[in-house]
This record gives sequence, C-alpha cells and structure tokens, in this order.
Amino acid sequence: GMHDVVHRIVRPDGTVRHVHELARAELNATGQVERLFGTVQDVTERMMAEAALLEARVAADRANQAKSEFLSSMSHELRTPMNAILGFGKLLQYDDTLSEEHRDSVLEITKAGDHLLELINEVLDLAKIESGHIDLSLEPVDLCPVLNECIALIGILAGKRKIHLSHNGVQGVVLRTDRTRLKQVLLNLLSNAIKYNREGGSVHLDIKPHGIDRLRILVSDTGIGIPAARLKELFLPFSRLGADINGIEGTGIGLTITRRIVELMGGSVDVTSEVGVGSTFWIELPIESMPITTSPQKASASAYPSLADPSLGDLGEQQLVLYIEDNPSNLRLMVKILGARKHLRLLTAHTPELGLDLARARKPALILLDINMPGMDGYQVLNLLKADARLKSIPVVAVTANAMPRDIERGMAAGFSDYLTKPIDFVKLYNLFDKYLQDNQTREG
Ligand code: ADP
Repeated sequence: GMHDVVHRIVRPDGTVRHVHELARAELNATGQVERLFGTVQDVTERMMAEAALLEARVAADRANQAKSEFLSSMSHELRTPMNAILGFGKLLQYDDTLSEEHRDSVLEITKAGDHLLELINEVLDLAKIESGHIDLSLEPVDLCPVLNECIALIGILAGKRKIHLSHNGVQGVVLRTDRTRLKQVLLNLLSNAIKYNREGGSVHLDIKPHGIDRLRILVSDTGIGIPAARLKELFLPFSRLGADINGIEGTGIGLTITRRIVELMGGSVDVTSEVGVGSTFWIELPIESMPITTSPQKASASAYPSLADPSLGDLGEQQLVLYIEDNPSNLRLMVKILGARKHLRLLTAHTPELGLDLARARKPALILLDINMPGMDGYQVLNLLKADARLKSIPVVAVTANAMPRDIERGMAAGFSDYLTKPIDFVKLYNLFDKYLQDNQTREG
C-alpha cells in the first residue's frame, strides 16, 4: 500500500516545519510493514505559498465583485442625467422661438452630449471587459449571415462617402464565437475602414483559413494608412493618432475593446498598413469543429480541411473525441496525433466552460480533460460532467502534467476512467482509443 502523510513538526527552537512522506510499504510474510521505500520532503515553503495564493485569490475575487457592483451603479448614475441633458437639448432644437445664435449653441451642447454618451458607453464596456464581467456565449455561429448583417448596417455609412463595399463568399463557415460580440468587432473594423478612408475609396472583406483550426476575417481599406512606428498605439485606449485634429468623430476606444473581446473569444487581432495606400485589419477566430481527415490529396492540398467538402458528410460513422485544454500547442499536438486515425473527429475547447458546453451539445464518445486550467480545474469539470445524467456515462480521461503517483491515485479516485500523463505517450493514447471507442476503424501506417 501507499504511505502518504504530511507531518507537522515543531523543532526545539519552536519553529514549525511540514514534512511530506511519500512511500511504498513493503510487507513481510505475516502482512506487517517491514520497510518503506520513498521520499521525505520538507514542503513548508510550498504549503506557505499555497496558503498565500489562496488568500490572494479570495481577495481578488472580493475586489472583482466590488468592481462589478461599482460599474453597474456607475453606468446607471451616469446615463440617467445624460438622458435628461440630451432629451431636453433635442427638444430645444425644435423650439421656433430660439434665435439663430441660441440654436447653434444648443446644437453644440447636444453634439458634445452625444459624444459624451458614446464615451461613457465605451469606457463602461471596456471596464466591464477588463474586469472580466462580460458574458460571452460561445456557440457555433454561421459566419455568412453575420457578415451580411454587418454589410447591410455599414452600407449606409459607406454610401454617404461613396465608398465601394465588397466581400468574397463564405458559404458554410461556422465559427465558435459570441454572435453579438463578433458583430460588434466587425462593425468597429468596418466603420473605421470607412471613417479613415478617402471619398470614393473602397473597403473589401475577405475570409482566409489560417493554420488548421482558425479563420481570418480581413478588412482592407484604401484609406489614409497608419505609419509603421505608430501601429503599436492603435490598440491603446484613447489613442486617436491625430484623427481628432482632422475632425473625424470617435473615442479611440473601439480598437481596444475589439482586441480584448477577440482575445476573450480565443482569437487575435492584427494589422498591416501603408501610409497613403490603405490598411488591412484582421481578426483570427477558432473554427467551430474540425473534421479530421487523412486522405493524401487533402493533406497535400492544405492542412485545412475544406468545410464544404462533401466527403465529410457521413459523420455518422465518425466518433467524436472532445479535448478540453487551455494550452494551444497541446491542442495542436492532439490534432496531429488524431490525424493518424480515421473516423475520429476531434472537438477542441480552450476553456472549461466551452468544454462543458460542447460536451452537452455534441455528446462525444470520449473526453480528454486537462487538469490545470484557469478558472475551473479538471476535477471540477469532471464533477459537473458526472452530475449530468446525459453525460455521466461518457468516459473521461485526464491528460495532465501532474505525474506523481499521488496525483494519479487522486485522479482515479475522483472518477476519471484513465489517467494519461504529459508528455503524451502515443502508444498509450492509441490504447485508450481502442479501449473506449468502438474500434471499427483501421490504424494507418
Ligand atoms: P476611434 O475610431 O473611435 O478613434 P479606434 O480605437 O477604433 O477609435 O481607432 C483608434 C485610432 O486608430 C483612430 O482614431 C485612427 O486614428 C486609427 N485607425 C483605426 N482604424 C483605421 C483605419 N482603417 N485606417 C487608418 N487609421 C485607422
């Protein structure tokens, strides 16, 4: 049996140490412990660090809660008087008894009021995002209708400045993202491409797969461009790069919000630009799910499986494997490993919440679960999976760098079907697939 004890030791000088004994017991013929094989480790510092960490986390949670309450009351307190200022201001504009001069003054007041309201909304939105208080509902989103909606909304603005809007077709692309926030981000990029464009210029929307599991949405304009040395400032709050001097309306917060949102959705934002020629802003987002295929002509054509590929239609034969893991390179590795197996389809989730959503929505045949993740750890995810009547029969395999025998024992006791340690042993992984999946497929190579 295992001998696994932490002793609290008081030394003669009164100081306290914690010592961890981890050992395997060897019994003699009569079943008594004869000796212990293992390690004795002073874990005092580690225990103190863990306690300090816990304390810090509790304090941070409390601070976050306070911030959230502050923000929601701020939002209410600021918007209520703005409502009166703008409402009465606009009423005055229509007052026939007002002199020309007074009418101009009222116009200035309402224009500044509109700008202030815009600032309040954007600052509060940014603060909410920064403190982690936004609800993103990440779900499969058909991209095409979203782009059409954005183009329709932005068309009026483009028309006013005689700017030509074009886009390439994207039938059938499905992203895993928050629909409302995706629209907000696209509208920001598109309206910038028009605002900072020249009269009669053009804006083009383009879609390109990037790598195996990501999609780039590019917004190109023929506008004023941005000097290379100032590109870094773009995503800082309130930086307008001189646009205020040129009288172009804005707050300088849009791109900051855009970047934060896209990052929260597991993506990234970037830009290339040439002064006087134009700029291309793009966002990169995770594709909803990836069909794994190994047919040679596809592998050579591109690493990216075409979503419109009809050969992927017979998904009935494919078995779903869900991998919940926050580290992108580990996710990519699993994509590679699973590529060697036909009839397996890998769903990946980079957050525990997303993983739970995917498990509920797709009911995979097997779940691979990382233990150390921010927010919710693998044990908590496992508990939620096991508490769900429709999911509890799905085998869940821990995939983790916690490779101590004690960790493995804890994992098995918690209800994991199996425990796989990193770095992943391919043979062990394949054996797990044989064990937990109906093996109607042949291995390649
Ligand atoms: P806003 O448009 O409200 O000023 P943003 O955060 O969206 O705020 O953009 C910040 C600044 O970046 C803008 O003020 C502008 O100077 C510059 N910018 C944004 N998009 C473009 C673009 N497409 N072309 C040139 N400059 C741009």
